[in-house]
Amino acid sequence: MLQELFKIPQGLLNLNAHELDAALGAPTLLHIRGRREPALFVSVLMHGNETVGWDAVRHQLKPYIEGSAHGLPRSISLFIGNVKAAAAGLRRLPGQLDYNRIWPGSEQTGTAENAMMQQVLDIMARRGVFASVDLHNNTGVNPHYACVNVLDNRFLHLATLFSRTVVYFIRPRGVQSMAMARLCPAVTLECGKVGQLHGVAHAQEYLEACLHLAELPVTPVPGHDIDLFHTVAQVKIPELLSFSVNGNETDLQLSADLDRLNFRELAAGTVLARVGPGCDACLDVRDETGRDVAARFFTVEDAELRFRVPVMPSMLTLDAQVIRQDCLCYLMERYNEHVP
Ligand SMILES: [Zn+2]
Repeated sequence: MLQELFKIPQGLLNLNAHELDAALGAPTLLHIRGRREPALFVSVLMHGNETVGWDAVRHQLKPYIEGSAHGLPRSISLFIGNVKAAAAGLRRLPGQLDYNRIWPGSEQTGTAENAMMQQVLDIMARRGVFASVDLHNNTGVNPHYACVNVLDNRFLHLATLFSRTVVYFIRPRGVQSMAMARLCPAVTLECGKVGQLHGVAHAQEYLEACLHLAELPVTPVPGHDIDLFHTVAQVKIPELLSFSVNGNETDLQLSADLDRLNFRELAAGTVLARVGPGCDACLDVRDETGRDVAARFFTVEDAELRFRVPVMPSMLTLDAQVIRQDCLCYLMERYNEHVP
């Protein structure tokens, strides 16, 4: 299932994400030799519709490969993930597993996709790896931010090189950055919405900076350089509940500017949705140990679904497919304990 290459196929860097499947035919791990070892590991298209990673990396590589810049400062191992979903412009194909939930450590085990991610991890463990960067877009209005799954100064330096906004989470399991953290400092980067050129430019500059790093400091990141948040819950809309944006026939009626609430510290009582008649609006809300914490965060009053406590949401989206395939949002708290 996994293809491993040691040379960039002719013309590959000119292709758009949806054309990669025709050229590669399979998820591909591509090793590109640079002046310094071990390689920077970069993964793109874990979600097929999130093109920022591929666009950033191909623009970043081009001057080096085409000879207008001197050799690549450090080797890169590039993992191009769900090319089939990318060809269809989808996060994942119907019936496919989510490529960013099946890395070693996942709750889901025993599938061909699990084996492929294990294989990628094994190859990188054998070759050695400097740091790992997994590039994503998201839907909804969010700042650019980095995620870490380990609170370690090297990881926080790698994260703040991208943004002062850093999110620490240990759920969902099976994400790339959690698996790669076994080998090296690892981050997931959220680079804004698909198609935003400044997201691509930001990711490209970041990769360039990473390739020039000699090492990641073990000293603490100064407190004034980082806003660290901790994901405390994931919020899903159960299949049984219908929802719409500003509709009035459904169980949940989400307001059209809901995603404006992302990364805002919200007061208790903030309204998330209107609730249709006869609906208990019982969301599926899980903390990082998988416990049901719906009652801690939500309440229904006057046919409105409200936050019971002050929280900060992230990745709130109105994209129905993302809501069904992933979740409605995450809830976060400020997390300053580990920052000096
Ligand atoms: Zn993604």
